[in-house]
Amino acid sequence: MNKATLVAAALRGDDPPHRPSSTPIYQTATFEQESPERFGRYDYARSGNPTRDALEGACARLEGAAGASAFASGLAALATVLRLLRPGETIVAHEDLYGGTQRLLGRLAEAQGIDVRYADLVEGDADAWERAIPPAAKMVLVESVSNPLWRAPDIRVLARLAHQRGALLAVDATAMSPWWQRPVALGADLVVHSATKLLSGHGDVTAGIVCSADAELRERIAFLQNAEGAVLGPFDAWLLLRGMKTLGIRLDRQAASAMAVARWLDRRRQRVGDIDRVHFIGLCDHPDHDRHRQQSEGPGLALSFETGDATRSAAILRRLERFSIAVSFGSVDSTASLPCFMSHASVPAERRSLPSDLIRLSIGIEDPDDLISDLEQGLDFLPERLPQPERPAQAAPLERPPCAL
Ligand SMILES: *Cc1c(COP(=O)(O)O)cnc(C)c1O
Repeated sequence: MNKATLVAAALRGDDPPHRPSSTPIYQTATFEQESPERFGRYDYARSGNPTRDALEGACARLEGAAGASAFASGLAALATVLRLLRPGETIVAHEDLYGGTQRLLGRLAEAQGIDVRYADLVEGDADAWERAIPPAAKMVLVESVSNPLWRAPDIRVLARLAHQRGALLAVDATAMSPWWQRPVALGADLVVHSATKLLSGHGDVTAGIVCSADAELRERIAFLQNAEGAVLGPFDAWLLLRGMKTLGIRLDRQAASAMAVARWLDRRRQRVGDIDRVHFIGLCDHPDHDRHRQQSEGPGLALSFETGDATRSAAILRRLERFSIAVSFGSVDSTASLPCFMSHASVPAERRSLPSDLIRLSIGIEDPDDLISDLEQGLDFLPERLPQPERPAQAAPLERPPCAL
């Protein structure tokens, strides 16, 4: 079967006895039992719900995993994975991680005594990465590809190094989805998704998925899912199933458009020179382009670029008409953001290394020519006086609560 047919087959509902074409929403909290001693397959919706089961089964099939568990958000999924660690145990995380994940790791370190170490697990070679993973490490965590600089860790090599230490490799593959990358086949033990992004694709649900490579891990994650209870509700599970039916056609289209936008920006960088760097892993001069090609089937749908000045970046964003200013990515609607001030504002000040002028674009399903024209008018516009962005470029530790995303 080809990939598109596999996705369709994985998502087909087969709920007896009525055989509906769409998985029914079991909007129920509890299930009646035959007797006090004889339980049916389902008893209570936190422990299991047929709609959530259908989603979890589909995700496991798409990832080639032993099982999947669905959570109320990507961070709930990550928090559950991190629960596999006990106080005093060590996790090594690649240093370029989603802001909310860094905030979560910081809290865990504080509240539970988990030893969190950041290391560069992308630059360099296997020897350097081996040195970065201490013998006592219990987990290695990376994003493939990372956001918003789209760095690609070598999943095969990191899996080998982690396993030599007896550690688990967890890959947050939110920016790829199983349409483009299946980390289990590359050796990962756990694959995490913020399904809020590409898997949903419609910006209408917050959800997280953990896929486990083997049955034992699947049991441990399912135990935690039930014990801690951050489960995905049946209606949200259904929304996700519905969004995933179009995963392939959405992502192929969005990647092609992202490629066109990245090429246009890169040409503008060379000819006009009012852009400093374009970051898109589909471009040949991205530092991880070749490695990414060895372990994936697509470049993603998001890219970023630098303008040299955070104030100018903010002014460009305000000018854009086809992109809404919003955190998150992966929806059918194009969005633009300044990661430093938005999705990554929760990164602790001492760990903040992103350029403050970085603009991130998530490319939707609009016509790419219209997106490019919009960027052109935004970049051509140079106001005489630039209004200041809401927060200083070199932000001190944040006063207001870190942004939700
Ligand atoms: C958004 C995101 C998360 C968090 O997911 P939520 O669904 O927002 O909780 C985790 N990892 C990555 C890479 C993300 O982009």
